[in-house]
Amino acid sequence: PYYERDEQLPVLPPDVSRSTFNAAIAALEGILGSANVEVNDKPLVDGWYIEHPNTHDAYHVFSPGDSVSSAQCYPGSVEEVSAVVKWANKFEIPIYPISIGRNLGYGGAAPRVRGSVVVDLGRRMNKVLKVDGENYSCLVEPGVTYYKLYDEVKRSGFPMWIDTPDLGGGSVVGNAVDRGVGYTLYGDHFGNHCGMEVVLPNGEVIRTGMGALPGPDGTDNPTWQSFQYGYGPYADGIFSQSNFGIVTKMGFWLMPDTQHQTFMVTFPNDEDFADIVDIIRPLMIKRILGNIPQLRNVIQELAVTGRPKTDFYKGEGRVPREVIREHASKMPCGDCAWIFYGTVYGTKEQIADTLKIVNIEFSKIAGSKFLFPEDMPADHYIHSRVSVCSGVPEIRELDWLNWKPNAGHLFFAPISPTKKHDARVLYELVRDIHDEFGFDVFPTYCIANREMHFIANIVYDRDDEDEKARAMACMRKMIDVCAQHGYGEYRTHILLADQVAHTYGWNNQAMMRFNETLKDSLDPKGILAPGRAGIWPAKYRGKGWEL
Ligand code: ADP
Repeated sequence: PYYERDEQLPVLPPDVSRSTFNAAIAALEGILGSANVEVNDKPLVDGWYIEHPNTHDAYHVFSPGDSVSSAQCYPGSVEEVSAVVKWANKFEIPIYPISIGRNLGYGGAAPRVRGSVVVDLGRRMNKVLKVDGENYSCLVEPGVTYYKLYDEVKRSGFPMWIDTPDLGGGSVVGNAVDRGVGYTLYGDHFGNHCGMEVVLPNGEVIRTGMGALPGPDGTDNPTWQSFQYGYGPYADGIFSQSNFGIVTKMGFWLMPDTQHQTFMVTFPNDEDFADIVDIIRPLMIKRILGNIPQLRNVIQELAVTGRPKTDFYKGEGRVPREVIREHASKMPCGDCAWIFYGTVYGTKEQIADTLKIVNIEFSKIAGSKFLFPEDMPADHYIHSRVSVCSGVPEIRELDWLNWKPNAGHLFFAPISPTKKHDARVLYELVRDIHDEFGFDVFPTYCIANREMHFIANIVYDRDDEDEKARAMACMRKMIDVCAQHGYGEYRTHILLADQVAHTYGWNNQAMMRFNETLKDSLDPKGILAPGRAGIWPAKYRGKGWEL
C-alpha cells in the first residue's frame, strides 16, 4: 500500500518551527553530507518485510501518517552518531535510533514522537567487526542482520553457530537491545551479549564491561567479548528497552557447532495444556531441554501453511474449534490440540539418551505422538524449526500473515511461570479477550529456564479501520486484565509502552521514578527517543504525551 498525505510535509517535531527545522536540516547535511539526510515528504509506502520503510510503522495500528518521522539520517561512524546527538541537543529535535527497523509487530521503524528524526544506523554502520574463532564470539555494528552474521561466520570457517529469531532479517543489535529471543542454547540474546559501545544523549561515548579498560596501544580490550561485567555497576542493562543511549557496537557469544535433532510432539486434547506445561518445567530446569523450545496451538499449523483464513472458514469471528479439528486431521499433525517443537543437542549418544527421557515424560499424556523431520513432507513447518534451532536464518514465519488480506500484526507478549496454574489462568484470560474482540488466538509459548514467553499474535487487515481499532482495544484490555492477575509483558509496541510500563508500578511507580531520574540526568534536553519504553523526559512529562 501507498498513502498520499494531505498535510504540509514534512511533519515537524514538536515545538519546532518550519524555519528552525529547515536550518537544522541544513546543519545536519553539513555534518553527514546531503546524501545521508532525507526529509520525509513523500507518500508513505508500507512495502513488505524485505523492503520495509524507515519513515513510519509499516504495520500501522492507527492511520499510517500518525507515527511518522520528519526526516531520516544515516551516520557512518560512532563519531558521526555522536555529532548527530550533539546536533539534536542544539536544535532540541527528538531523534529516534533504529538499527534495521524491522521491529514489526512492535512499531517497526516508527518513532514514538511524531516528527522525530530517525537515525538509521543500519545503512552505513553494518560491519561485522570481528569474528573470534578461539573465543567463539563476535563484535558487530547495528546494521548487521542475522543473515549477514550467518554468512560472515560461515565464511570464517570456524565451527560456530549464530542464534537467530524466527525472522532472520532483523538487526542482531536491535533485537538484543529490545531483548528478543532465538531458539538455540544461546536463545537469550541480551543474556549472551558481551560488551557494548554506547553514545550517550550528550554525545559522550562509553564502552561497557571490560571495554572500559583500554587495551595496549589503543587496541580494544582483549577480554571485551570474554567477560560481561568488568568492574563497577553493570551498566549494560539500562541500555536495553530504554532511551538512555545509542548502541554503536555490541559483542555476542557464539555457540559451538554441534549435532542436533529437532522433533515435534502432538497432544490430542485442549485440556492437556496444563499438564504439558508441568512436564516441560523440570525438563527445562534440569537442562535436559537446553534450548528455547516452543509449544504452539494447533491453529498455527493451519496458519503457517500460508493459506488465508477464508480457505478454512468463511464465517465471522474466531475459527470454531471443530473447523480447526476437521482441517488438522487431514494435515501431518493430525487431529491434535497442542504441538511441542523441541531440539536436542550433543553427540549422537547424548541425543538418543535425551530423546529417551523426553519421550518417557511426554508419553505420560495419553495420545501424545512423536514426529521427526524425516516423517514430514518437505514443505512442513518443522523443517523451518530445524533451521532456526541450528542457527540458520529464515523468513518462513511470515507465511501466516496471509491469514488476512493486507495483514499487519501486533504481538501480545506476557511472561508466565512454567507452572500449570499460571499457564492456564493466563491462557484463558487471553483467549476470552481475543474472543470478545473477534480475533483468532495464535498462542506460541517460547520456554526458557523457569518462565514462558507467551506470544499471542493478533493479525488484522490494515485497510479495515474497525478491525484495527478492535485490535488495539483487545491489546489494551489484555494488558490491564493480565496485569491485575500479576502477568506483565516482556516487550511491547511503542504505542502501548506507557500502559505496559505503568503496570510495572510496584510501590507507587517507584521504578518509573527511577527511570525518569536516569533519563533527566543523562538526557536533560530530552532528545533521545522520548517515550520509548514509557520513559518520558521532563520536557514532555505531564503534557498529554502518554497514551
Ligand atoms: P530489528 O530491525 O532488529 O527488528 P530495530 O532496528 O527496529 O530492530 O530495533 C528495535 C528497537 O530497538 C528500535 O525501535 C529502537 O527503539 C531500539 N534500537 C534499535 N537499535 C538501537 C541502537 N543501536 N541503539 C539504541 N536503541 C536501538
